[in-house]
Amino acid sequence: MTGVPAVETRGLTRRYGDLVAVRDLDLRVEVGEIYGFLGPNGAGKTTTLLMLLGVVAPSAGRVFLWGRPLEADPLGLRARIGVVGEHDYVHDHLTGEEYLRFFAALYGVPDPAARVGALLERLGLWEFRRLCARDYSRGMAQKLALARALLHRPALLILDEPVSGLDPQGVVEVRRLLLELNEAGVTILISSHLLSEVERTAHRVGIMHRGRLLRQGPLSALRLEGGRAVEIEVAHPAPHLGTVLAALPYVGRVESEGRRLLVTTLDGEDRRAALSRAVADAGGVIVGMRVRERTLEETFLQVTEADVDRWASSPPGG
Ligand code: ATP
Repeated sequence: MTGVPAVETRGLTRRYGDLVAVRDLDLRVEVGEIYGFLGPNGAGKTTTLLMLLGVVAPSAGRVFLWGRPLEADPLGLRARIGVVGEHDYVHDHLTGEEYLRFFAALYGVPDPAARVGALLERLGLWEFRRLCARDYSRGMAQKLALARALLHRPALLILDEPVSGLDPQGVVEVRRLLLELNEAGVTILISSHLLSEVERTAHRVGIMHRGRLLRQGPLSALRLEGGRAVEIEVAHPAPHLGTVLAALPYVGRVESEGRRLLVTTLDGEDRRAALSRAVADAGGVIVGMRVRERTLEETFLQVTEADVDRWASSPPGG
């Protein structure tokens, strides 16, 4: 996709004292896509999202929304965004319906009764509309927060861990809703640890680690990026095989569990013959081998662990 991106940051940086929470970030979310924003705890995702919303001021760098600098029209630009934070719970005495009606009035939503009703229905909250919102389960509260974020029909939805508190049914419902909204043209930026969920919905992903964006691109390209996953089954458990394989120059990570070894390779070559030889040389007997694309989780671990190794050998300066 080309054209003016929905979100673009240039050199975005945020320091807290000596800590660089976000470092020189060039994020790009295209209009109409679902972007998965990934990173381990403390990577800097929430700080980034808060800077996109103008809640946290950058130490350096700029934010552009639909091509306009955020500072040029913070209120106008923010009005086009719907947000659900990670801990967006409702603590007051309002019922679910009153809560949404309150925000609908605040946002000046036309025909608020119909809009609130439709969202309650769509999110499976209609039968609970008269229940006090603070008595909602975590999953219900999350759905209520999503309904609130959608009241004013935002063009961009920013979600921090949107399905983390939901039961499997809720996860499917929210996934369907997000895909439907995206079909209708809503751009969605999802920050999440749930890689399998992101893998099912996102078109492109960005991987953040220790404040820096290590990768950004289409999911398919990222998963394929050089490596594959090779599953090897050996006749007898042999823990030393993991160490032997991990030392090979074309091998990234090795996970060994009983008779199974999961090897991620670092390039696009077919390494089955070489891996078979290495296992045989180390006294292993292979009874099965399968090559497949890496999952997003395997790619994510590969990319972030390689970054940890790089840090250990040469930590970047503050
Ligand atoms: P998580 O997935 O756990 O929510 P995250 O990727 O959202 O993590 P951030 O919350 O953005 O990470 O935090 C990035 C770093 O900045 C962390 O080391 C955090 O402790 C630090 N940090 C965040 N906010 C502040 C603050 N207000 N004052 C000081 N340090 C902060």
